Amino acid sequence: MQSSRALRQHLESLRAAGVTHLVRATVSIPATVVTPARPEPVAEVATESRPPRGTLLPVEPVPMPRVAKPAPTLPEPVPFQALDLPKPERVAQLQVLQQKVAKCVRCDELARTRTQTVFGVGNPEAKILFVGEAPGADEDKQGEPFVGRAGQLLNDIIKACHLQREDIYICNVLRCRPPGNRLPSPEEAGHCREYLDGQIAIVNPEYIVCWGSCAAQNLLGTTMPIGKLRGQFFQYGRAKVLCTYHPSYLLRNPAAKKDVWSDMKFLFQDQGIKL
Ligand code: SF4
Repeated sequence: MQSSRALRQHLESLRAAGVTHLVRATVSIPATVVTPARPEPVAEVATESRPPRGTLLPVEPVPMPRVAKPAPTLPEPVPFQALDLPKPERVAQLQVLQQKVAKCVRCDELARTRTQTVFGVGNPEAKILFVGEAPGADEDKQGEPFVGRAGQLLNDIIKACHLQREDIYICNVLRCRPPGNRLPSPEEAGHCREYLDGQIAIVNPEYIVCWGSCAAQNLLGTTMPIGKLRGQFFQYGRAKVLCTYHPSYLLRNPAAKKDVWSDMKFLFQDQGIKL
């Protein structure tokens, strides 16, 4: 009785407020609330639980990812577009790019301290392109990437894969030696990215091997450690990208040679070649 009086008073107060109709509620509440499982991001799947070898992970290839943006005063590097050129045209375009690099002073400190720029060498029609970190003292003197002890070890790896150094195209993230062999800064890597992209676009390889974390992280635009990037392919333009340890690291940690050999077998297995 008391509750019906209270209800009447409530309805009258609603009418006084202008409410003329009440709608019956139709929402049903489920007995249990199920929280949908959050989908795992692709990159995390790639790192936390390594997929079976041979898995091609869908990393967005275009426009090319980069760790560092070029300085605001510099022109944006052209979006990556692989070129399918005849050999003489590739040679000519690489020469044009090399001449541009030889005069480059984008990185003030490196331009002041280098002996010469170290552009890149190898087959302009290479199926496999190697990317290293930056020139060291030997490379700075000789003007060629991967010479000296690390370069000799790289040559041994290439031979063990039944190839010649001349079959590969070899370049670095940077084309000038950082003083004291320090790591390239993100700004320097950003400055030099246009040249790296240019070389990749002209050579148009099927495979890119990133030697060491600097090359891998800069090319793929990631901060993941090299140990987690190994053992799988990433996509960059049309190229499949494999990351492995730098030969300099192998000189300090010979036990890791077996891991690099395993990566090489993985790379060649994808081409139908058993090492
Ligand atoms: S490292 Fe690359 S961007 Fe920097 S000065 Fe040398 S060629 Fe130019």
